[in-house]
Amino acid sequence: MPTSTSTPTPTLPVTTGPVVQPGEDGYEAARRGYNLSVVHHPVVVFSVADVEDVVTAVRYAAEHALPVAVQATGHGPTAPADGAVLVNTARMNTIEVDPATRTARFGAGVRSGDLVHAAAEHGLAPLNGSAPAVGAVSYHLGGGIGMLSRQFGYAADHVRAMDVVTADGQLRHVTAQQEPDLFWALRGAGKGRFGIVVAMEIDLHPVTRLHGGGMHFSAETTAEVLHTYSAWAATAPEQMGSSVLLMHMPDVDGVPAELRGRFLSHLRFAYTGSPDEGERLVRPFRDLAPLTDTVAEMPYSDVGTIHNEPTTPVAFHARNSILDTLNTDAVDTLLSHAGPDAGAPYLVELRHLGGALARPSTMPNALSRRDGQFCLYSGSAVANADEIAPLHSALGRLHYAMAPWGTGGVCLNFLAGPDVTDEQLRSAYLPTDLARLTRINREIDPTNTFRINHSRTLGR
Ligand SMILES: Cc1cc2nc3c(=O)[nH]c(=O)nc-3n(C[C@H](O)[C@H](O)[C@H](O)COP(=O)(O)OP(=O)(O)OC[C@H]3O[C@@H](n4cnc5c(N)ncnc54)[C@H](O)[C@@H]3O)c2cc1C
Repeated sequence: MPTSTSTPTPTLPVTTGPVVQPGEDGYEAARRGYNLSVVHHPVVVFSVADVEDVVTAVRYAAEHALPVAVQATGHGPTAPADGAVLVNTARMNTIEVDPATRTARFGAGVRSGDLVHAAAEHGLAPLNGSAPAVGAVSYHLGGGIGMLSRQFGYAADHVRAMDVVTADGQLRHVTAQQEPDLFWALRGAGKGRFGIVVAMEIDLHPVTRLHGGGMHFSAETTAEVLHTYSAWAATAPEQMGSSVLLMHMPDVDGVPAELRGRFLSHLRFAYTGSPDEGERLVRPFRDLAPLTDTVAEMPYSDVGTIHNEPTTPVAFHARNSILDTLNTDAVDTLLSHAGPDAGAPYLVELRHLGGALARPSTMPNALSRRDGQFCLYSGSAVANADEIAPLHSALGRLHYAMAPWGTGGVCLNFLAGPDVTDEQLRSAYLPTDLARLTRINREIDPTNTFRINHSRTLGR
């Protein structure tokens, strides 16, 4: 007769990829992602190698009435997977490109940069974002504001099909014809909800080159750069993607000596039009005497070098809002909070929206709220827990001050970290779309198995 009263660990199923529990080798690595501000404490991690593993993980969760959470790279967590079955998809990294149909099909663990390189071999490009290291599936599920998006729209607008394992453990092929409700909902609201997307098929675009790069400017030039940018962006063509970063560069190895420890602005450009026109378009900024200037012809496969974002895992806390306009008053207010003399404990970035991002998708999806001209993103890496509250107060003051120019919406994909609220998530959608999402979510996931990722946003 057993004498112990502790609950026995349920027998774990046999899978191709490893399955680990707390205290076992590999658990730390399997639960950890890029953004360390969210720490997952799952009861078990399935590092799935194939679709069968995903089905097994979801059925295991259902048998034991456990919630399911998903992680590819950990660039965008918004809630800890505590007490959950965590499905780590990093091993599902196959990519197939079909140049005849201009499509790519890729697995749940594929990173954006690998997709860019696979497509480039065929003279094609996905609508990837700025960072090669982010997961391509989740990037598309959250909308996907890409370097080419002013010209082509949200990445989610160009998803053709998905294979999805839902809470009942079934593998469904989801297209506009088959499962139209789920197809609509996943594209814009599918991060960690409705099921696990095991494979995605997207349109590719015949883009092989860019006139692009970046320019750094000194602290003294910041105001002139931002005012020039606000006037310039108002007439920039849709083939021009751009953004501007304001930050105090860290004084560390790896940052070029001439930029280290200084407050800088960094303007980024990605233009698909002719080199001559590209040169003409960036001229107003060249005239402001940048400290660095990498704007030139480049193969599209080098697009990740434009923002050149760091890849070392950090605990990052951030906040964003969408602005309707960036007029003179908005620029001055932004400078007073985040300019060179403000001593802000965070970086800010403005990404130019509009163009095709403001138009409805030809294949409607859950992201039909498309107002606004700029995404104002702000945040910082945090080394100590006592920095978090002051950082959030400062971020709150910035976004409150910028609210007169805001739409009330957010850039969904840039919401990450433990402080994301249901209210922020809801503001990404139109109220009618939220009601439809809730209905579909109840039908597809009656047990609310995918409840970890802010299921309250959908009233669950
Ligand atoms: C440095 C940096 C640059 C970025 N640049 C851009 C940009 O230019 N444009 C843009 O739009 N976004 C950008 N993002 C945001 C990024 O696209 C999102 O955070 C995205 O969700 C990250 O996906 P991931 O798989 O890398 O992260 P993860 O943290 O692994 O996943 C994020 C969420 O997606 C869900 N998820 C992951 N895989 C699946 C799946 N297979 N099925 C269902 N749900 C899943 C999970 O629930 C998880 O909560 C950037 C983020 C960072 C950190």
